[in-house]
Amino acid sequence: MTKIQRAAELIRASKHMVAFTGAGHSTASGIPDFRSPDSGLWEKDNPMLVASIWAFRLNPKTFFNWIRPMAHLLVEARPNAAHQALVELEEMGFLKTIITQNIDNLHQRAGSRRVLELHGHMREATCIRCYKVVPIDPELQQVILRGKVPECGCGGVFKPNVILFGEQLPVKVLNEATAEARRCDLLLVAGSSLEVAPASDIPFLAVESGAQAIIVNLQPTSFDAYAHVVIDGDVAEILPQIAQAVRDLEAC
Ligand SMILES: [Zn+2]
Repeated sequence: MTKIQRAAELIRASKHMVAFTGAGHSTASGIPDFRSPDSGLWEKDNPMLVASIWAFRLNPKTFFNWIRPMAHLLVEARPNAAHQALVELEEMGFLKTIITQNIDNLHQRAGSRRVLELHGHMREATCIRCYKVVPIDPELQQVILRGKVPECGCGGVFKPNVILFGEQLPVKVLNEATAEARRCDLLLVAGSSLEVAPASDIPFLAVESGAQAIIVNLQPTSFDAYAHVVIDGDVAEILPQIAQAVRDLEAC
């Protein structure tokens, strides 16, 4: 039996499957891993000086200059075959929840319904002075795409609802993700090297709670030893094959 078939059988036998996705899930959509040292994004900038909450408070202009190319990529990106495969697994009734480290909204745009975003998103922004929350509508998006600092009526600055270095993960999302990790009987890790704590603790929690695990990632990870199926490969190639194999089993 191939690893793809083995993964498909685990999915078909599962009652509550959860997926955990990371930067590798969106590389086929043209979004670089912005936390990875070799992504090119940190060659000029020290992350702590541009993408930390302390840097944002001291000098928001530097932050918005830094995020501008990323904001353009997010506008242009489209969901890829890996996103689509997870939608199919949800529609077949297996996948219940996606826990993601990505901020790109691509799971939702592909059609996935329950997505827990551990590192926030770019759909809304919050004033760091009066805590007013506003949608990042086309108008505010244009301000960000031009590299300008979006200002609140109170004189404060709007920060996109992404989690910067030095910020806590959103408590409600983290609690829900933790509950899903404890509850699931099958966890699929897709496109994450599990190097960014505390998000990376969640797959280990699932296995400790008794879940089986599948991991699909380009490079080996510290999680491989805990997984029941380990596939070294590109999620955009592998996940559609797994979804197809599940469909074939269902048709039998
Ligand atoms: Zn304000």
